[in-house]
Amino acid sequence: MTEKRVYTFGNGKAEGNAQMRELLGGKGANLAEMNLIGVPVPPGFTITTDCCNEYYKIGQEKIIKVLESEVNGAVKHIENLMNSKFGDTTNPLLVSVRSGARASMPGMMDTILNLGLNDEVAEGLVAKTNNPHFVYDSYRRFVQMYGDVVLEMKPVNKEDIDPFEEIIEEVKAERGIKLDKDLTVDELKKLVKLFKEAIKERTGKDFPNDPIEQLWGAICAVFRSWMNDRAILYRKMEGIPDEWGTAVSVMAMVFGNMGETSATGVCFSRDAGNGENLFNGEYLVNAQGEDVVAGTRTPQQITKVGSLRWAQRAGISEEERASKYPSMEEAMPDIFAQLNDIQEKLEHHYRDMQDMEFTVQEGKLWFLQTRNGKRTGSAMVKIAIDLLHEGMIDEKTAILRCEPNKLDELLHPVFDKLALQKANVITQGLPASPGAACGQIVFHADDAQDRHADGHKVILVRIETSPEDLAGMSAAEGILTARGGMTSHAAVVARGMGKCCVSGAGGINVSYKDKTVEIDGQLYREGDYISLNGTTGQVYAGEVPTKAAELSGDFKELMDLCDKYTKLQVRTNADTPHDASVGRAFGAKGIGLTRTEHMFFDDKKIIAMREMILADTPEGREKALNKLLPYQKADFKGILEAMDGLPVNIRLLDPPLHEFVPHDLVGQQVMADEMGVDLSTIQRRVASLAENNPMLGHRGCRLGITFPEITAMQTRAIISAACELKKEGKNPKPEIMVPLIGTVAEFRQQKAVILKSARRTFDEYGFKLEFEIGTMIEIPRAALTADLIASEAQYFSFGTNDLTQMTFGYSRDDIASFLPAYLDKKILKVDPFQVLDQEGVGQLIHMAVEKGRRVRPNIRTGICGEHGGEPSSVKFCAKLGMNYASCSPYRVPIARLAAAQAAVEE
Ligand code: ADP
Ligand code: MG
Ligand code: MG
Repeated sequence: MTEKRVYTFGNGKAEGNAQMRELLGGKGANLAEMNLIGVPVPPGFTITTDCCNEYYKIGQEKIIKVLESEVNGAVKHIENLMNSKFGDTTNPLLVSVRSGARASMPGMMDTILNLGLNDEVAEGLVAKTNNPHFVYDSYRRFVQMYGDVVLEMKPVNKEDIDPFEEIIEEVKAERGIKLDKDLTVDELKKLVKLFKEAIKERTGKDFPNDPIEQLWGAICAVFRSWMNDRAILYRKMEGIPDEWGTAVSVMAMVFGNMGETSATGVCFSRDAGNGENLFNGEYLVNAQGEDVVAGTRTPQQITKVGSLRWAQRAGISEEERASKYPSMEEAMPDIFAQLNDIQEKLEHHYRDMQDMEFTVQEGKLWFLQTRNGKRTGSAMVKIAIDLLHEGMIDEKTAILRCEPNKLDELLHPVFDKLALQKANVITQGLPASPGAACGQIVFHADDAQDRHADGHKVILVRIETSPEDLAGMSAAEGILTARGGMTSHAAVVARGMGKCCVSGAGGINVSYKDKTVEIDGQLYREGDYISLNGTTGQVYAGEVPTKAAELSGDFKELMDLCDKYTKLQVRTNADTPHDASVGRAFGAKGIGLTRTEHMFFDDKKIIAMREMILADTPEGREKALNKLLPYQKADFKGILEAMDGLPVNIRLLDPPLHEFVPHDLVGQQVMADEMGVDLSTIQRRVASLAENNPMLGHRGCRLGITFPEITAMQTRAIISAACELKKEGKNPKPEIMVPLIGTVAEFRQQKAVILKSARRTFDEYGFKLEFEIGTMIEIPRAALTADLIASEAQYFSFGTNDLTQMTFGYSRDDIASFLPAYLDKKILKVDPFQVLDQEGVGQLIHMAVEKGRRVRPNIRTGICGEHGGEPSSVKFCAKLGMNYASCSPYRVPIARLAAAQAAVEE
């Protein structure tokens, strides 16, 4: 049996349909489908995406052999329906050869129009149409496109001028005209000749005259365009696999450049920017293909409403608009009416916003493409909810229509679109935390706080950030760092705060000493303005105005809908009452992780903390801990209060102590004075805390085991905070979590300390309240022995940052040096610190959940860490039947949507 490689369509019939997009590509599948539902489409055929892969396997010569008879038959099919003949000199058929992948990749691959022309065919077409201008305009476009795409005349560097454009400019300059459409027939003929000469000169090859040879050249060039740099980069960004391949659609040309009754355009059934239910688009009279988007002529609006709005924005008078730029609705009312009917029909058929291309040839309308339109995050939500209200889709479909990650755009301040167009990009870093920010440059966290206190907006520019910069980061509008990846301190903390951050901007040169930063050869000083786009990683000079994000009614409606279907709850990670209330406002059902260490970075607290660490004796430690207690209690009270009635999971002290001690002489002297000891004593103690491998060193529960006083103090702070709130009539629900457990014995020991301290505290208050003691599963051994641990622990929270680190053996602080190579060589598909590795790390989680349930059937399981806000990871947790995912406040809606989708997809 031979495999079918070519699918024809035309005249209301098609061998393919919309369901076949994997094989025919989105464009090919929809061209077939439009035929089937009675939309006028020029006849043609589509070569499958499988052939593209075959092309890469067997090469050009062999693929032509394999395809030859089917393609010849399909060309006959077009000829019959069009009543014309490919290469004929009296009644010639011209075709377009178009690319189209499974997922739309607008403008990334190549298309060739007007194929089938040569000198003889052109003369024949002139005789037939009596329109030499049209013929030679089409001819020169064809030679240009064919030269660029098939014969690879297109310059490799973006900066170099296209040789064809150069020739056109020369010819136009000779006669002092500006627009392509003002070229005379003779000039167009001359262009064809000059183009062909340029091709011969540059490539040594003659331009192919034989239309069949032209066709094969074009088909193979479209296959090749799948692997052009643009397409590869786009796939990387969108996560589209290289294996999909592109289909090739060949179809009869229709001409928008045949005179004043011809036109070409693009239109959308709704507004792709804000989702408004308003048909809109642009068109050009006497033009072809890409002219509308090419920007050489000003396109006109399709609807009158659109045209009026456009004129108002552009400051064009009504008189000028009506005479020079009338809408299609006014200028071609009959065609407009047909166009409007069909766009409605298509939207109803696909039940989604459509992005369409059309051409009018001498008063007859043809559709050339339709696809589900790309849209912004806010348009996505509005369109889904509107379609639901209009009865076009059901609730589950509305949930599935929204892409969780795109909600991000709705949660952060954004740049004003018009302002952005004028802004000047000066460098590019990693899009570490989305949003828009602008402000005055500062280089130190203190300066950020000071200037902020004086009412200024600041951008904190650092080589890299450390936990001590936290308050400064919080005061800044945005953060720019020269070093560090997507999981660097700056990135993680900024995302947690919902603060715009661009990290790893290798092109900037920071001097703390001079308080300057050099970007793109220009020196910026403290106080100068810059703007950051955390969504793209771009950095702009000067002030680009921003708008605050707003939660629209549609957004809330979507979130309520999610709650109706979801099984997995979403909690938030929060270290402050402010974070807790932001998370709660976004719908968090509690706190999944409170990191107590973040509370210590505050002038007074850090001194007490350092005193505790630097103390040599249990008594000295006890004394310092007593100073810390009231601070901790107040912090916990604030958080428990903000989450009143909802569970709050508090993790005991986790990071290596070395992170807290002063490393500078001044700081060490302050501590010496504070504690009444020599500077050298302090220095010795600091040195003794240094570790070769701090991530695997003295941290987590190991701290609580060696210094039980810390665990006891933190428990006391948590329990007394809860008791005080209870007395005030509140309903606090604390959970105490022991970090970095590897053996059940560790947990048992810590649990005893917690219970003892809690009992004492309850005695002081004279009453008790409910609280739970659980653990983090973040060491592989804990996952392996989860059944033993579950006999003691009331809940598991999977700390997937550490679990990933320890399962792969990749230091998450050092991965940036080899991750790019791993991604490049396809050893890893994605950064495992961003997207949970379901295959490996996921297996440990799966095992631990099952083992835990065997011993404690109702054991609560949740995930915290970066993965808790990443849609595919959240869905994985939902599939395991886990109870919750916890993520930074600004990702709560994203996780809620992903969780609901997992439930709907079941
Ligand atoms: P892209 O995927 O970049 O949009 P297309 O294959 O859609 O590329 O084609 C580029 C342009 O050429 C579009 O404006 C399209 O409408 C136009 N075009 C393609 N085929 C034809 C045709 N047979 N007749 C007229 N115009 C066409
Ligand atoms: Mg297109
Ligand atoms: Mg951890």
